[in-house]
Amino acid sequence: MIGADVGPVALTSRAAHVGLVESIYWVVSRHCNQRCGHCYNDSEPGARGLSPDEVDRCVANLPDANDVGVERIILSGGEVLAWPALLFHTLTRLYQRYGEHTALWVQTNGDLLDERTLDDLLAHHVRRIDVSSIDRYHPKSTIERRELLERMFASRGMLDASRPASDGRVRYGFWGATEDQWIGPLWPRGRARANGLSSAAPQHEFCRMWSGAKNFLEYRGSGCEVNVQLGDVYPCCPMTCRPIGSLLVEPLIAILDRCARSPVFQALNAGRPERMGESLGISEAHGIQRTRALGNHCLWCDEFFTTYGRALLVDGATARGSVDLDSVPPAHEKRPAPGEPTRIATRPFPTDDDC
Ligand code: SF4
Ligand code: SF4
Repeated sequence: MIGADVGPVALTSRAAHVGLVESIYWVVSRHCNQRCGHCYNDSEPGARGLSPDEVDRCVANLPDANDVGVERIILSGGEVLAWPALLFHTLTRLYQRYGEHTALWVQTNGDLLDERTLDDLLAHHVRRIDVSSIDRYHPKSTIERRELLERMFASRGMLDASRPASDGRVRYGFWGATEDQWIGPLWPRGRARANGLSSAAPQHEFCRMWSGAKNFLEYRGSGCEVNVQLGDVYPCCPMTCRPIGSLLVEPLIAILDRCARSPVFQALNAGRPERMGESLGISEAHGIQRTRALGNHCLWCDEFFTTYGRALLVDGATARGSVDLDSVPPAHEKRPAPGEPTRIATRPFPTDDDC
């Protein structure tokens, strides 16, 4: 998701497939050597990751390359290098599945990256490494590693991703969270929200942008991007309050095709969360009013799914459950107005202990 602005060498031709998933951002573990105050997915030391068996089940449910291509898969965390056996197992399985047809990227905070690990990553066919911790939210010791890492990358013939790619060289990038881009307008999630670092507001309309839900269903058209947290599939980087499906039990394309039949997800696919309730009799005007009252579209999205659309989401390992319920206003404020549908929820949210 983040850092997907500079595309890799396009290894997959759209014309060769029925469709194309442009990018899969896959958090294989939330275990991290740090516990940053701005972390959107609550990564921390000891947090849950996939088992090797679960990785295999997820990879088996990724698109069949003979049907739907996958342009790139970005492996992230947590800190992916804090659990190297899991990362290298995942890279091995993905390369076995896709070979050179899919670009494998790794996103890291850089703390644990040394020469041996870098050589292992290159030997596992990684096409790009992003160090995503160059910001004032990470410790000084992390920021100060940049020069060392740049020298390591250059010594392996890697190319700065900010420069035009003229050949198939492996690339690297450095970036981080900023108030005007990756903290401010989004991440009303996890510790970023709990610590008041997100200033996402109605005018930001993140859902309409790349890494929002816009076009997440368009694998047959313009190409789409999805966010996978452990095995759970989300339509966007901020994450709906529960996942739209799980790669542990359902193929990704089946999940997207199922969502494509729902007017609610069609509205999200259009980047219009304020219209997501129209098929249930909840007007766009109500969506706009609740977005303004709650503070941003993603909190309205949470309220919509928790109040009207729980059955559209699935039980997963990464449901944010009570975190989002905290954001929903008291019952007397959210009670549907006359003429509006009553709650259609069929399942309770998991508690923190369940997540
Ligand atoms: S922001 Fe990155 S480095 Fe910090 S806790 Fe989250 S995953 Fe770890
Ligand atoms: S409004 Fe909902 S679907 Fe859109 S970006 Fe926010 S959480 Fe994701």
